[in-house]
Amino acid sequence: MLSTRRLWSKVNEFIYCSDNRFLGVMKMSSQRQHSSKEIFALEDKHGCRNYAPLPVALSRGRGAFVWDVEGKKYFDFLSAYSAVNQGHCHPRIIEVLKKQADVLTLVSRAFYSDKLGEFEQFMTTLFGFDRLLPMNTGVEGGESACKIARKWGYDVKKIPKDQAKIIFAEGNFWGRTLSAVSSSSDPTCYEGFGPYMPCFSLVPYNNIPALEKALQDPTVAAFMVEPIQGEAGVIIPDDGYLKKVRELCTKYNVLWIADEVQTGLGRTGKLLAVEWEGVKPDILILGKALSGGVMPVSAVMANNNVMDVITPGTHGSTYGGNPLACAVSTEAIKVLLEEKLVENAAKLESVFRAELEKIPKNMITCIRGRGLMFAIDVHESIPAYDVCSRLKEAGLLAKTTHGQTIRLAPPLVISEQQLKDGTRIIQQVLQQFKK
Ligand SMILES: *Cc1c(COP(=O)(O)O)cnc(C)c1O
Repeated sequence: MLSTRRLWSKVNEFIYCSDNRFLGVMKMSSQRQHSSKEIFALEDKHGCRNYAPLPVALSRGRGAFVWDVEGKKYFDFLSAYSAVNQGHCHPRIIEVLKKQADVLTLVSRAFYSDKLGEFEQFMTTLFGFDRLLPMNTGVEGGESACKIARKWGYDVKKIPKDQAKIIFAEGNFWGRTLSAVSSSSDPTCYEGFGPYMPCFSLVPYNNIPALEKALQDPTVAAFMVEPIQGEAGVIIPDDGYLKKVRELCTKYNVLWIADEVQTGLGRTGKLLAVEWEGVKPDILILGKALSGGVMPVSAVMANNNVMDVITPGTHGSTYGGNPLACAVSTEAIKVLLEEKLVENAAKLESVFRAELEKIPKNMITCIRGRGLMFAIDVHESIPAYDVCSRLKEAGLLAKTTHGQTIRLAPPLVISEQQLKDGTRIIQQVLQQFKK
């Protein structure tokens, strides 16, 4: 295996040598690893500055840990926003990726592949839906769900043409397309990107009377909501909220779309976060950990009465459902189930909470979490960004969500001891802040 890989990189170098401009780049990258500072400078100079990353340049990952280019090891308490639930470079998933990559990667949906149907069968059986629509990114999952809901609104609910409404919850986050920012209540997301999608409206999250009032409008096709709001700062609704959402959507003949792109696949200690209240949405969106952090894979699931409004030619994606994604994703879900990662997240919730509660009360104002999806709000006198910088110095990576909130979500493969060791870093760093 090793000698083949070397040969490959030699071949690549040889090919690119004939092009003078490329020669320099290839030689540089094959001879010497850039330092962290050089990497920051490269992105800063040549990249679109749509992110402001913590100054750490990673080049390797395994399980709950990542390493920077200088070889320093870090706990990963972000897990790529919960895409890496199965841990970095899970050997089983990477093995399947390599095997499938050698055979077939993409045919488009113009033809059948030997992987898609098996994947759809596996997923719909596991999650209890009739059909699955494969997409790539999470936001495409949300976008597709909105399209399905509108079409259902016209074809089934008989909403007059071009009047179908979709209701969202304030504080939602489902990505960065024009539709997603049109439904956002965060000015950073939507300001400067108008005009916005018509017939999208907002209700407060975790507010049943407001939702009921909105759903009474007969032109409402769907209500889309996260069972726990991730980007908003791990906002957990009151017990019974999801049950009530289910009841009201049924009562008013409105589709309930559950965005489980972040909460799904074990993160909260259940396979799906909606299981906490024993309810089932009409449309389920999964993404992120669906591939174990290996490639973008998302999926929308629904029953026949909803999914059948989509007919040949009315929706699609070149990469959606590609054989590589199907193989990787099937293995990623099997890893989740067979290694009991959902159970691990459930078991470690109390450990995580108990460890976080050891942080002096005057440093943090709130601890919220379920499973391995936690957030702490640091006291207003402590700059949250500085906390993350010092955590990084101390060997733990985490990121602020909004304002004073720091999300803490390690890969679900983390052991109890590792979780305790990681949390000790958080305790020690916060103690450095005098107030
Ligand atoms: C991250 C996220 C998305 C968007 O996923 P992308 O792959 O970044 O497009 C959608 N919904 C929720 C709840 C998310 O956390």
